[in-house]
Amino acid sequence: MESFQKSFDVIVVGAGTGGTTAARFTAQKGLDVCLIDRKERSQIGNKICGDAVGTEIFDILNINHPKEDELSCHIKGAKLYSPNLNKCITLTDPKQAGYEINRLEFGQRLLNEALDAGVKQFLDNTIALDLLYKDNSVSGLKIRVKNGEKIDLNSKIIIDASGFYSPLRKEIKSSIIEKEISKEDCILCYREIVKFNPQDQQVNDPEYITIIMDQEKAPGGYIWYFPRNESSVNIGLGMFMDYKGQVKEYYQKNVFNEFIKTKKYEVISTGGGVVSVRRPIWSSADNGIMFVGDAACHVNPLHGGGIDPSMRAGYYAALTALDAIQNEDYSLKKLWDYNCKIINSFGAEFASLDLLRIALQKLSNESLNFGLEKDLLSGDEILEIAATGGIKLSIMDMLTKAIKGISNPKLLLDLNYLRIKMNDLRSHYKNFPKNIEEISEFDAWKEYTKNIYNKIKFTSFGKSIHKENKNI
Ligand SMILES: Cc1cc2nc3c(=O)[nH]c(=O)nc-3n(C[C@H](O)[C@H](O)[C@H](O)COP(=O)(O)OP(=O)(O)OC[C@H]3O[C@@H](n4cnc5c(N)ncnc54)[C@H](O)[C@@H]3O)c2cc1C
Repeated sequence: MESFQKSFDVIVVGAGTGGTTAARFTAQKGLDVCLIDRKERSQIGNKICGDAVGTEIFDILNINHPKEDELSCHIKGAKLYSPNLNKCITLTDPKQAGYEINRLEFGQRLLNEALDAGVKQFLDNTIALDLLYKDNSVSGLKIRVKNGEKIDLNSKIIIDASGFYSPLRKEIKSSIIEKEISKEDCILCYREIVKFNPQDQQVNDPEYITIIMDQEKAPGGYIWYFPRNESSVNIGLGMFMDYKGQVKEYYQKNVFNEFIKTKKYEVISTGGGVVSVRRPIWSSADNGIMFVGDAACHVNPLHGGGIDPSMRAGYYAALTALDAIQNEDYSLKKLWDYNCKIINSFGAEFASLDLLRIALQKLSNESLNFGLEKDLLSGDEILEIAATGGIKLSIMDMLTKAIKGISNPKLLLDLNYLRIKMNDLRSHYKNFPKNIEEISEFDAWKEYTKNIYNKIKFTSFGKSIHKENKNI
């Protein structure tokens, strides 16, 4: 029987992008840290993904940008296409620039850097089974290690970064944590990495990621074509969860057959996954525990990008853990500061983008073609929305749009209503309670948020409604 250290300041569950970042910064600050993952060490980082990440997070965390084996290629920006492909909006600003990464190599680097920062114990092939409690607070974790043995580990704080299916969030004894994520707020994705000979087929727009919005070919989501190098691409699509069972068929017909024109190709990776596309869970913390990344819906609802926010959240969780441990207080009251950091960093923006996501999912191809071709949303405006979750328009801008959109006044009015509600929600998130002394204050804040959501869920957006939201 192997011997394990059984008591830690912090136990981090999951060695994905969120968990390795949390482990790295807690260990670097001198805390006693255990990191566990159900995967074998050599497979850490191997995740089905579009593999695109912006440059910003590396500067914010002051860590190395991807290079050498980790880096597939540099990306200048994004090209966004209307369903009929008549309109292409090129989005280039420093925030859109980034990398296409080799996910396994990137994940291995993040793991090695966390271990080098001083993680005391790393257990691979180890599954988090259940939380342990003491006096109404999470106090540790039941795990099953490599040899099948079940062991109890004690901790002052658990950081759960176990991804979308987090078993700990689903089972937690808590009145404040949302356990279930509605399937209306999730997107089912499928992607392949396809290699070919550059003499037989060239990569389209090798410096840009390409996104095609099409409610018929990818209902509720989008089609992506991400270059990796001169001879391979990461291509896929996201769709409403109702299409489970059909996603591969849609992929083959609308993605693979559209993009891969040579008969000499090799599919080097295939697979699907689910990503949440909604606001972060109401609270990402409770007594003795914080949730990071996909486990807490820290994913951009507009494009499903979750690498950057999971790493931010991992960093914030580390800062909050250090403060809590220095003050010997692991209660929700003390950990509440983590929620505030999340809301201020990306939570308010994601909530507002969630409204836009709900609206976009209701637009027909006809409305999408109309809105994009008539510049009801220009490239600069899309960038502003993507960067801040809101948009300011001058009277002149409004008038110009009114003239361009005159043949579809209902759509124009609905989009304007959406703009108002997105800005309203963003301002409301500025009033997120600074502490949790009065639960009634938090409840009132949630009620107001839900009201704004319901208003957008009840709006039909334009002439035709593609799909009613079943949450209504
Ligand atoms: C098809 C697809 C394409 C995507 N494309 C992009 C993209 O291009 N860019 C982008 O930024 N984001 C993209 N995302 C989202 C992104 O992959 C995630 O948001 C991000 O990886 C979240 O990181 P995480 O650390 O929270 O979770 P994960 O990366 O999922 O890591 C969770 C870890 O926890 C471990 N684990 C799970 N359960 C247990 C358990 N019980 N015990 C122990 N360990 C456990 C897992 O093995 C895993 O290593 C995509 C997602 C999908 C599905």
